[in-house]
Amino acid sequence: MIEDFIVIGGGAAGFFAALRAKAVNPSLAVSIIESAPKPLGKVRISGGGRCNVTHHCFDTGRLVQYYPRGQKELKGIFSRFGAQETVQWFKQNGVQLKTEPDGRMFPVTDDSQTIIDCLMSRARSLGITLLTKTPVLDIRPENGRFTLQTPQGNFQARAVLLATGSAAKGYAWARQLGHTVEDPVPSLFTFKIRHPLLADLQGISFPKVKARLDIPGAKPIQQEGPLLITHWGLSGPAVLRLSAWGARELYGAQYRGKLTVDFLPEVTDEALKNALLQQKAETPRKQIVNACPVDLTRHFWENLLKWHQVPLEQAWADIPVKAVNRLVEVLKRCPFEIEGKGVFKDEFVTAGGILLKEIDLRSMESRIQPHLYFAGEIIDVDGLTGGFNFQNAWSTGWIAGESTGIRAKVAR
Ligand SMILES: Cc1cc2nc3c(=O)[nH]c(=O)nc-3n(C[C@H](O)[C@H](O)[C@H](O)COP(=O)(O)OP(=O)(O)OC[C@H]3O[C@@H](n4cnc5c(N)ncnc54)[C@H](O)[C@@H]3O)c2cc1C
Repeated sequence: MIEDFIVIGGGAAGFFAALRAKAVNPSLAVSIIESAPKPLGKVRISGGGRCNVTHHCFDTGRLVQYYPRGQKELKGIFSRFGAQETVQWFKQNGVQLKTEPDGRMFPVTDDSQTIIDCLMSRARSLGITLLTKTPVLDIRPENGRFTLQTPQGNFQARAVLLATGSAAKGYAWARQLGHTVEDPVPSLFTFKIRHPLLADLQGISFPKVKARLDIPGAKPIQQEGPLLITHWGLSGPAVLRLSAWGARELYGAQYRGKLTVDFLPEVTDEALKNALLQQKAETPRKQIVNACPVDLTRHFWENLLKWHQVPLEQAWADIPVKAVNRLVEVLKRCPFEIEGKGVFKDEFVTAGGILLKEIDLRSMESRIQPHLYFAGEIIDVDGLTGGFNFQNAWSTGWIAGESTGIRAKVAR
């Protein structure tokens, strides 16, 4: 039997494409072929089990700025199906999303299973065939059709969507079918750093720092945001954003680089120096460890003093101005050597993938192989942490489904 549309990969992008194709054209025979025993595996584990579905950013121009790769190309895609449309889609299908103070959107149940249940029940009610434990082993285009080889036998399709995420096979098929693949490299990771300032401070966070990443031979990258000290180094949105913008350069540098952190970006050097000198003048007898005039946790302040060999019990009166200058310097421009890549368990994504110029982004159809479509992580698009990666999957999946559905309708 020949299927009209076979989706390879039952992830976020694959499901959205199949659902949209069938909604546009109910007579279409649509199947999802998934290698794992259960579909939507990444949705399940995403966002710490809560699934950060999208981001509360309904302005296309602003939304695209969260994508280190794909920014320009996503504009047209998001103007057709962006974050607002995603929220509406889930609402129409019985899932209410809520927004957290940082803009991330989750199901009100705080449970990724809600999203899975919604997608699965929609697929069932539309009559989409879902085959699990069925790894596609090969794809061959012949006589205007595709033959998909699986251990359960061959399948034939008039149109195929590759929505295999970051699986190596997906990239290999794309290459085999004439496409260029930007080498996949990891994005969204933490930095391994050993430094006396960070010793035993895991769990301490800073609501806003300014951080600059220098990698030899690359342009410096700057980001602002919360910073978190971990057992192995530094994490938090500021670091994750740097890891995304510098993903390729960091990979090239074997995850070595220099990070410079301004722990008090809202305070100028001068204002900080004045605050320290004022403390010295007003509380000369107080031990420096007990009288920090700026908003820093006590443990961090202690580590800072120890690192600079300022005795913790020394009275402010005995602190030389030279030491004050050194504290200002390090709080405003603290240098760290990045020694490697750490893990960020809440979200992880691959930068790289099928070159966007080889895809017709109005339909997500290959410009090289007719009736072959791409959506989701397999294409050369990746976003920062915060729901942007799923948004890419929902949007590109939706467009691929819409165009296959309409095209098949017209052809009949
Ligand atoms: C731990 C973790 C947490 C995350 N949390 C978030 C988050 O909260 N918010 C966010 O926006 N993003 C998050 N992401 C990123 C997000 O999961 C991905 O961007 C998204 O899943 C990409 O969707 P996709 O459909 O393109 O690929 P995938 O979700 O990877 O789906 C691809 C599917 O294809 C199947 N497949 C692969 N090869 C074959 C084959 N040969 N035959 C058949 N099937 C095959 C795979 O089994 C898989 O089910 C997270 C990622 C991770 C790893």
